[in-house]
Amino acid sequence: MTAAPTPMMAQYLTLKEEAGDCLLFYRMGDFFELFFDDARVAAACLDIVLTARGEHDGDKVPMCGVPVHAATAYLQRLIKAGHRVAIAEQTESPEAARKARGSKALVNRAIVRFVTAGTLTEEALLDARSDNWCVAIGEAAGGVALAAADVSTGRFLVVALDGGSVTAELARLAAAEVVAAEDSAHAELAGALRPRAEFDSGAAEARLKRLFGVATLDGFGQFGRAELAAAGGLVAYLDHTAKGALPFLRPPVVHRASATMAIDAATRESLELTCTAAGQRKGSLLDAVDRTVTGAGARALAADLGAPLMDRAAIDARLDLVGWLHDDGGARERLRAALRALPDIGRALGRLVAGRGSPRDLGQLRDGLDGAWLLGERMPADGPALLAEIAPRLRGHGALIDLLKRALVPSPPIDASDGGYIAAGYDVALDDLRDAGAGGRRAIAALEAEMRTQTGVSALKVRHNNVLGYHVEVPARAADALMKPDSGFTHRQTLAGVVRFNTPALHEVAARVAQSGAHALAAEAAHLEELTATALAQREAIAATADALARLDVAAALAERAVEGGWARPALVEHSCFEIIGGRHPVVEAAVAKAGERFVANDCHLSEQSRLWLVTGPNMGGKSTFLRQNALIAVLAQAGSYVPATSATLGLVDRLFSRVGASDNLARGRSTFMVEMVETAAILAQATPRSFVILDEVGRGTSTYDGLAIAWAVVEAIHEDNRCRCLFATHYHELTRLAERCAALSLHHVRAREWKGELVLLHELADGPADRSYGLAVARLAGMPPATVARAKAVLAKLEAGRAKTGGLAAGLDDLPLFAAAQAVEEAQCDAIRAEVEALDIDALTPREALDTLYRLKALA
Ligand code: ADP
Repeated sequence: MTAAPTPMMAQYLTLKEEAGDCLLFYRMGDFFELFFDDARVAAACLDIVLTARGEHDGDKVPMCGVPVHAATAYLQRLIKAGHRVAIAEQTESPEAARKARGSKALVNRAIVRFVTAGTLTEEALLDARSDNWCVAIGEAAGGVALAAADVSTGRFLVVALDGGSVTAELARLAAAEVVAAEDSAHAELAGALRPRAEFDSGAAEARLKRLFGVATLDGFGQFGRAELAAAGGLVAYLDHTAKGALPFLRPPVVHRASATMAIDAATRESLELTCTAAGQRKGSLLDAVDRTVTGAGARALAADLGAPLMDRAAIDARLDLVGWLHDDGGARERLRAALRALPDIGRALGRLVAGRGSPRDLGQLRDGLDGAWLLGERMPADGPALLAEIAPRLRGHGALIDLLKRALVPSPPIDASDGGYIAAGYDVALDDLRDAGAGGRRAIAALEAEMRTQTGVSALKVRHNNVLGYHVEVPARAADALMKPDSGFTHRQTLAGVVRFNTPALHEVAARVAQSGAHALAAEAAHLEELTATALAQREAIAATADALARLDVAAALAERAVEGGWARPALVEHSCFEIIGGRHPVVEAAVAKAGERFVANDCHLSEQSRLWLVTGPNMGGKSTFLRQNALIAVLAQAGSYVPATSATLGLVDRLFSRVGASDNLARGRSTFMVEMVETAAILAQATPRSFVILDEVGRGTSTYDGLAIAWAVVEAIHEDNRCRCLFATHYHELTRLAERCAALSLHHVRAREWKGELVLLHELADGPADRSYGLAVARLAGMPPATVARAKAVLAKLEAGRAKTGGLAAGLDDLPLFAAAQAVEEAQCDAIRAEVEALDIDALTPREALDTLYRLKALA
């Protein structure tokens, strides 16, 4: 028979059940303890000692613990490692428990919060320069949608996918945590699964109306059932993790995926937009562009680069603002200097709303809003339109700023428990209490002098510690006189070398000091609460100011970057062109410059008539760099940035795709060729005539014949079917024959030259196919032994002679009819129509259904 668990263990097990798959931090005095598997997991992750405590079911209970004062650092490591943590606090003091339920009573404990990657507000746990999105996936009425909240700043997005993919949007948001219903079709994408009922769209609507105190959600935008389900599920999850203390959420903003350039997860990764393949910010486009001076600005820039716009007017509005700051160096410098000095008011506000705010957060609001006001005052009335929109949001907090200026000391502390943050002169009663305290301390000093004279002990001192409070201390050798019963001193403590006493007079003054101190602390705490409430009453306006500052920072940073790099303002047009003169790759350019070399700028001219460029040339010749720089220019331009080029004119890009042939990905150990084909298939299925596609050595991940065949078919399909703008780099020379058959395809190569037996890569793009592949020259460059290179030369001569005779790898391809891709599509359409017709039960159709069927068949044709 197993013994009944101890009362403590029973309490632990109940809490653990509530914690579910979160690690349970169980508060015991100055420690958070973990037990059982939680202890094993945490000990391994945190590299702390695993011990044991008591027994449960006859086995020792594994245990480890972290001190409460250092818990944040440990939490940070657990969250980073992908864990979620439930915090169980003692909800009463041990004395209270004893008083209520006897001397052996167990203190009550309860889970007060779930700490998860998506619900953090603590400065120490967050990256100041990245958003922290918690995302919920909602499904209803056959549709899917996302809702995302960054509770550190209160931003709340409802994402209408418009047929776009869930994974692409999750990648755009770089979701810190994903939540879905337990039976969701997307459960495998989620880290936390919640009851289906929390994702009910009807309940969600009611919940959102209640949360924002509105009778209808129409004012926030149009929500479909799936969008409501996602938003409701998200709010329910945030409510759950905060145990009912719902964090800061601003009214939802609808984000339509179709309003931004579609960039799937593979493309983001391949272009290294906001982080590199190795997961680092350094080396990414964002890192090469980012000149923001505030955390909020950095977060906004990352969001902008991740979601380039599709609306020409909106892009031009951003560019106008960047252009104004670009041209007026003085205004830019002043703006940046002012922004640099401002605290992160968005996150300070988030902490205050979450109930984890400090006096310092209020101080940050004061300084940030004050700085914003000053900036707003200085904005010219005749600036660009976006500025006129932003400037009014910088002002309007005059009363709050005045209040906080009067109420707070210049640098309020993070820790409120010692007081000292309310300014003198704000509250007369508080000043009196402080005076009483100070008077008391003066009285104590006077008393000390008096006692010295009285006892004749010049080394006598009045000291203070937490155990004895104020007391008198004399050296042991002088203690005898004070020990006498009639001396007026009461002995308290003897230590090596010193003896401590108390006196009635000292006791009385000390009590006065302590009492006025306690009252002063309480008065300060009451002010803190009131000031926080006053600030929070304006939280939406404050958040809007924080956004306005971030937008200014982004614009000034982009202007700064453009000046620094000699970048040009892009012209966005409606027709499908891509005219770049003197384009550069911002990341490679920086790397090349560091090595003391010059980056070679290259042009790119795509148009209706010349949609597809086939780029050949030696390895390391600069093909990938050229492809990527053009994709990056499209991203930058539509994000509202200047671009690294002498001039750029481009038609809006609706979808951007970038794929790299498999062998570049080998290090990541996937079934690489399979991945390459899946990703290429996605492009062929999704690219439209407004899309921009770069394909780098596609087909390389398999045998030569397979690879060439696939590359050939892909180029044809893109040329004939997708009709998008495309740059295709390849080492299959045979593909150059496609130029004769595909009217909108042209040939280009990166130039190289052999000079005194050495290969010189010029990184310069020229028209026409490369005349040779230079493989052997690259091998020599790479340090292959001369004898081996000589042998390879001999083998090559034989192979080439053979090719000349037989027509080579591509022999016979010229006879292949073109438009195979189009034909295949037609055949597939016929099959679909035939299947539909065969499945018809004509007798069972109503006239209305018959008409609908005809429409459907017509659509298939
Ligand atoms: P490929 O794709 O042809 O193998 P890459 O584009 O990867 O070649 O370029 C190889 C290297 O050549 C880059 O890492 C960079 O150092 C250099 N490079 C590429 N393009 C340029 C350029 N336009 N100007 C200067 N150096 C370049």
